[in-house]
Order: sequence, then structure tokens, then C-alpha cells
Amino acid sequence: MAYDYGLVIGGQERDAADGGTIEVTGPATGEVIGTIASATAADVDAAVAAAKEAAPGWAATTQFRRAGYLNALAKAVAAHADELATIETRDMGKPYTISRKVDLRTAPEAIEYFAGMAGKTEGRTVPVPGRFVNYTVREPFGVVAGVIPWNYPLLQAIWKIAPAIMAGNTVVLKPAERAPLSPMALVRLCQEAGIPPGVVNAVPGYGKTTGTALCAHPDVSFIAFTGSVETGRAIQRAAAERVIPVTLELGGKSPNIVFDDVDPKAAAQLAYSAIFSNMGEVCTAGSRLLVHESIHGQVVDALLGLIESQTVIGDPMDPSTTLGPLIDHEHLARVQGYVDRARNSGAKLLTGGGTRKIDGLSGLFFEPTVFDHVDNSSELAQDEVFGPVLSVMSFATEDEAIELANAVDYGLAAVVQTRDVGRAHRVAGRLQAGNVWINSWGNVHSASPYGGYKRSGHGREMGFSIMDAFTQEKNVWVSTR
Ligand code: NAD
Repeated sequence: MAYDYGLVIGGQERDAADGGTIEVTGPATGEVIGTIASATAADVDAAVAAAKEAAPGWAATTQFRRAGYLNALAKAVAAHADELATIETRDMGKPYTISRKVDLRTAPEAIEYFAGMAGKTEGRTVPVPGRFVNYTVREPFGVVAGVIPWNYPLLQAIWKIAPAIMAGNTVVLKPAERAPLSPMALVRLCQEAGIPPGVVNAVPGYGKTTGTALCAHPDVSFIAFTGSVETGRAIQRAAAERVIPVTLELGGKSPNIVFDDVDPKAAAQLAYSAIFSNMGEVCTAGSRLLVHESIHGQVVDALLGLIESQTVIGDPMDPSTTLGPLIDHEHLARVQGYVDRARNSGAKLLTGGGTRKIDGLSGLFFEPTVFDHVDNSSELAQDEVFGPVLSVMSFATEDEAIELANAVDYGLAAVVQTRDVGRAHRVAGRLQAGNVWINSWGNVHSASPYGGYKRSGHGREMGFSIMDAFTQEKNVWVSTR
């Protein structure tokens, strides 16, 4: 079955102005599985105009009415869960079991969560001196541009659209050209759920053309971006020109710190999930494993055992598969480049290091790869590889662990594995990371603020944080004289 999507502008699905399309290739098979329209600057103009026109009416719609639309969307997503999970896996390559059991469980819940914000974006009364009543209200910005990456396409689209429209904004979504299908399917469902025309628009296309035109558009009042640091910088520059706010959810190089009071097998299991889930194409991947020197050997041995016993590389539609293909050949070359350079850097390759041939499928399947004795200042330890490649290093003291953990430009997430409650909180407090997981990894929930320190970005998604971000505070003084 081929998946074909146009642009969605003002409730209508249509071709690009110049008829341009992008072929969508499934990473597992290498076959073309669909096409999307590729929006031109003129299409972006039309989409922003539609969003701008819809904005006053949508802002005036009661929050409870908006919630009704979101709940209808959540139902539609749940009803199409099998189909959406299939699209996600065929387009992005993640194992179907994960698409269906994780992404498609989270998706309707996230929409319902933001529907639950009805009536909760409250203002304040401020006790100023004098005969005044002073209060604040939170108001939408108008048109929000949502620009998203390819690694969790459906959830990323939801995390932009649901809070933005619940806060009373209208949206123009720019899906990633490498995995655009599930966001486009979602936007179609928005129309089916009855969300009024112009409230949710989508302009698929390339970053350099469609994305740039959208982020530079004078009628866009807020840019919500998730993606790489390089693009985040370009977007912040574009926003600076017009002095509009941005949220930037960027990359990571997250440490997973294992102290000597934990069970080495349990620590290895957490390390395994943290780096090999979603083929390592996870912004919060635990890509640096810092292990206390006294249990280093035991943890590494257990990890190698898990790679052997738990990894099934293959067709992501097969329910037993745990590791699917990387997204495309360009990305594979990037991952392979890091691995090849690391081989000559003094780090010790313990397992993996290249692609695994799977009969009848594409050449994009990369083996779980572990390097030991990695120097934290090396390229492998500093750069985001965004693949199933782990750097292992040792530490002797708590101070050393923290120093190593923080000695990267990124600050998205960190894991602390210890049974010592005092140490857990002490270390969490000293880590430069927006998300700290104690004896756990990868917990993300619509209710829980999420975002990065340092070069991993700024602004917080999820929960009340994103509702604050997507609204501006107005302060009103009323003289009682
Ligand atoms: P990317 O920056 O290449 O692309 C992200 C999006 O930006 C795409 O839709 C792309 O078309 C668009 N884009 C590219 N150039 C643009 C420009 N100049 N102007 C406007 N838009 C432009 O990132 P990617 O390769 O799609 O995703 C991988 C990156 O995303 C990794 O660095 C990963 O860590 C990060 N990521 C972060 C989070 C988070 O929550 N912090 C979550 C997922 C992914």
C-alpha cells in the first residue's frame, strides 16, 4: 500500500504550487512507500495565511470546546492505532511492537492530557500597592510554527499540535522530510475530528526550503522546534530577526552513571535499553556509560551478554524484532564514520562496528556497537552519533563521575544508578541536565516538564510548562477610583 499526502491548508488537502513531491522510502526495504507534496514558499504563505485567518476565531473558542475537539482527535488516533503504528514503522524503521505498544499508547493519552488543560490556564491577582486591582491573563500568540524531526514523528507532531491549539493558537506543522507520513496522517485525522479549517495546517517539505520559509515568515509568532543543534541555531537566528520566542529541543550526549552499590546485571539492562532503544536514534540516548571502576568488568560483561541474548535485528514489522534499520544511507554513513574514526582513536571496540546483512532487506541495519575505554574528550564521547553506539568509561569517585558527566556541550538528560538515596539526590542536583532519571531511563510523560540545559536547548515542553510557553502573560491594572 502506498501512502500519499498533499499539503493541508485551511482544511483542504492539495498539491504543492509547483506540483513538487518527495518520494518516501521505507528504510527497512529501501522501497518507495509513498509520496508527499513538497511545499514551496508560496504554499507556506498560504498555510500561514490560513492559520492567521483562523486564529481569532479559535482563540475566542472556549477552552472546553477546544478540549472537545482534542478528545475527538484522541479517539480517532486510538481507533486508527494499528494503521498509524504500521505507517510509523514502515516510514521510520522502529520495531512495530514499539510503535504499537509505546508510541500509539502514548499518542492518544498525550492528546487527552492536553484536552484536560481546559480551564487550567489561570491568571493571577497581584497585590500591588495603591487603589488598584492588578491581574494577569494568559493569551495565545497567534500562529505557531511546529518544526519536528524524524525519530518520533507521530509523538513529536502531537507534542507540538495538542498544547499549541489547546492554548488557543493555530499551527503550521513542518514534518521532517525523512519520516513525514505519520504526522500527515495525524493532520488528516485533525480534519476528520472536526477541528475547524485553518487551525491545524501542514507543509511537508525540505528543511532548507520549506522549513526556512516557515521560520522566516512574518506572520509566525512562535516557533516550536525539535531537531539538531545546527538547525536550532538557524531557527533561533530567524526568530531573533523578528523578536519572536522559540522553544528549542535539541540533541544530547547523555551520561548513564553506574555507582558501585547496584546490581551489575540490572545496571547493564538499563544501559542496554538506554542506548539500543529506537536504534539509538533517541535524543536522550544514554550514549555514555560511566561505570565505577570496581564493577566495570561485570557491567560490561553483562551488557555484552544482553546484546547477544536480547537483540533481534531484522524486519521491524516482525513482532520479535528489537532493532530495525537506521533512517537512511546518509545517516548510516555518518554513524559508520564515527565508528571508523573511533576504531583508530585508542578506544577498544568490544562488539559490533558495522552493518548486518539481512536477506531481502535494505543495507541499513547497524549492529549494536560498544567501545570501551573511551576518552571523554574524544569525538565519539562528545558528538551525538544518533545510532546504536555506546561509549564506556570508568570513574573512581563521585566527583569524577560528575565531572565526566558534565564535560560535554549537551545537557539533555542523565541517568544515575545507585541504591544510596542521599547520593541519588546529591548527584541529580549537580548534573547539568534538564532531565535526570534515577535508576530508570527514558521516562517522558505529557505531564512532566521536558527539555535541555546548555546546547540541548531551552524552553520546556509538556505539562503546564508548555502551556505557559505557548501563551503570553498580559497584565491589567484597574484603578478603583
Ligand atoms: P534536523 O535539525 O536535521 O531537522 C529537524 C527538522 O528541521 C526537520 O523537519 C527539517 O526539515 C527541519 N529543518 C532543517 N533545516 C531547517 C532550517 N534551516 N530551517 C527550518 N527548518 C529546518 O534534525 P533531525 O535529523 O530531523 O533530527 C535529529 C536531531 O533531533 C538529533 O539531534 C536529535 O537529538 C534531535 N531531537 C531532539 C529531541 C528533543 O526532544 N530534545 C527529540 C528528538 C530529536
